[in-house]
Amino acid sequence: MRRPFVAGNWKMNLDLPAGRALVSELRARITGAPPIDIAVCPTSIYLFPMAKAIADSPIRLGAQNLWHEAHGAFTGEVSAAMVRETGCTYVILGHSERRHTIGPKGADGRVQGETDEMISKKTQAALRAELIPIVCVGETLAERDAGQTEAVLSRQIEGSLAGLDAASSARVVIAYEPVWAIGTGRNATPEQAQDAHRHIRGRLVERFGKAAAEAIRIQYGGSVKPDNALTLMKCPDVDGALVGGASLKAGDFYGILEACIRAKGLG
Ligand code: PEP
Repeated sequence: MRRPFVAGNWKMNLDLPAGRALVSELRARITGAPPIDIAVCPTSIYLFPMAKAIADSPIRLGAQNLWHEAHGAFTGEVSAAMVRETGCTYVILGHSERRHTIGPKGADGRVQGETDEMISKKTQAALRAELIPIVCVGETLAERDAGQTEAVLSRQIEGSLAGLDAASSARVVIAYEPVWAIGTGRNATPEQAQDAHRHIRGRLVERFGKAAAEAIRIQYGGSVKPDNALTLMKCPDVDGALVGGASLKAGDFYGILEACIRAKGLG
């Protein structure tokens, strides 16, 4: 069985005292060794102090991005080795905000964000630095309405994981995050999530073989809350959650951890 994994993407939220307070409350609630993997992903400037805040706890640290080159003239960027040096275990890559929200606008008015090619370079850099990449994929509402969901997911999986072999693919986590569900309060139904996850699993089987594909964890992300987490996490191909808004409150995040544990029959 794949070990479930729930991560909180804090994005550009929570100052340092608030991040420390959240982790301290989480630590108090998580007693013993949890049967799932848990991570928090603060903004990069806080990774070193947050590594201290989670020390000797079951909570692991993730970054929200990295740059694929090892070093050089890349002002403002952070390499995979630098991220690893802070104490990170994970790094989120290709989040939809980086694909569709952050970046210059093209002539058509759309943001020219990260491409699958960039994300594949970052994924390989993360693996070289012994980080576990959380590679985000997901369709926009226009793509879903046009019946293109599966084609988009296939293209993103193929492109973002280009250059990986079966052995390294098993170290990757995929996050299926429909763009229309992120930060909107509108989550995918369990059926929509399971359909997308089954499709992704199928592409992974084609690409890396059954054994590797069965080992890859696929998180669901998009308005996961304590009250919808149980049914989403019960889906057989949903192996946990990438949580944005609800990870900013210890009680809500803990509620999602509990729901995940219960949904998977682990406690
Ligand atoms: C996210 O940003 O990865 C996310 C899933 O956000 P939210 O839970 O707020 O929709």
